[in-house]
Amino acid sequence: MIAERIDGKAFAQSLRERVGRLAAEFACKAGRKAGLAVVLVGEDQASQVYVRSKGKATLEANMASFEHRLPADVSGAELLALVERLNVDPAVDGILVQLPLPGYLDEQAVISAISPDKDVDGFHVINAGRLSVGQTGFVPCTPLGCMMMLTDRLGDLSGLEAVVIGRSNIVGKPMAQLLLDANATVTIAHSRTKNLPDVVRRADIVVAAVGRPEMVRKDWIKPGATVIDVGINRVAAAEEGKTRLVGDVAFDEVSEVAGAITPVPGGVGPMTIAVLLRNTLVAAYRNAGIALAGDDL
Ligand code: NAD
Repeated sequence: MIAERIDGKAFAQSLRERVGRLAAEFACKAGRKAGLAVVLVGEDQASQVYVRSKGKATLEANMASFEHRLPADVSGAELLALVERLNVDPAVDGILVQLPLPGYLDEQAVISAISPDKDVDGFHVINAGRLSVGQTGFVPCTPLGCMMMLTDRLGDLSGLEAVVIGRSNIVGKPMAQLLLDANATVTIAHSRTKNLPDVVRRADIVVAAVGRPEMVRKDWIKPGATVIDVGINRVAAAEEGKTRLVGDVAFDEVSEVAGAITPVPGGVGPMTIAVLLRNTLVAAYRNAGIALAGDDL
């Protein structure tokens, strides 16, 4: 069997187009565009690239983008004051503080300062709590994107065995929660899990969010399982001095047994930014008190 390749890039593109159309409708109804504010502290190269591409994608989706670049030595108080201003700015529906912050800043304090109703990353403890008890809030973009691809492929997940490898607050835990809400039987595996290959072999759905290149092997996978690879790892390429991206799953060999699999790159990655735009649009409709036909766009 050769697994179906789940095309996250195409899926993300169609979500972005849908968001773009609804964002144009929002602008007509509300008399203003939905707005996303992105805060970047310091000069980290990777973060600069992320912030630039988020800004570009926001504009392409018919929304307003507000970029705030602060120097690497900005004080915690100044950063919190900016977040406070954005919290009360009616043009801003979503606030994203690009992580990681320089080590001397308290990340948790900054996330906690963001209004939960503008927390489009879904990292605020209030939104984590809402997800946990089944209330409407904001769900972190990466696991929500994985969930969209899973339900698109599998439909009803009731009773399926799902194994999530990784228990971070931004991927593993919310992913497990979403799968549980969809009535899957969920196991969260992590660095202390014993006999990990045996645990993963039970799974109809495997979500790998670890950060270890090609850790998940062919003989860990139940034939026909759906495999979602969240990992992004840079490794040395065959050509000297070059690098390439790989996931947490050994793609070629796992493709020989899985039913479907997301590639890296081109799988989960493109979905994350599309879901960020989706969350921002949902925030805009909620903040403006305008009904959106189903929050499940
Ligand atoms: P993290 O470092 O916060 O968490 C990694 C988790 O993996 C931990 O819970 C740990 O218990 C588990 N783990 C570590 N070693 C293990 C082992 N040997 N066996 C089993 N479990 C083990 O990472 P994260 O922020 O959750 O990210 C995970 C990966 O996903 C990274 O590669 C990251 O770059 C990637 N990521 C991708 C996107 C995207 O948009 N595609 C978004 C976020 C993270």
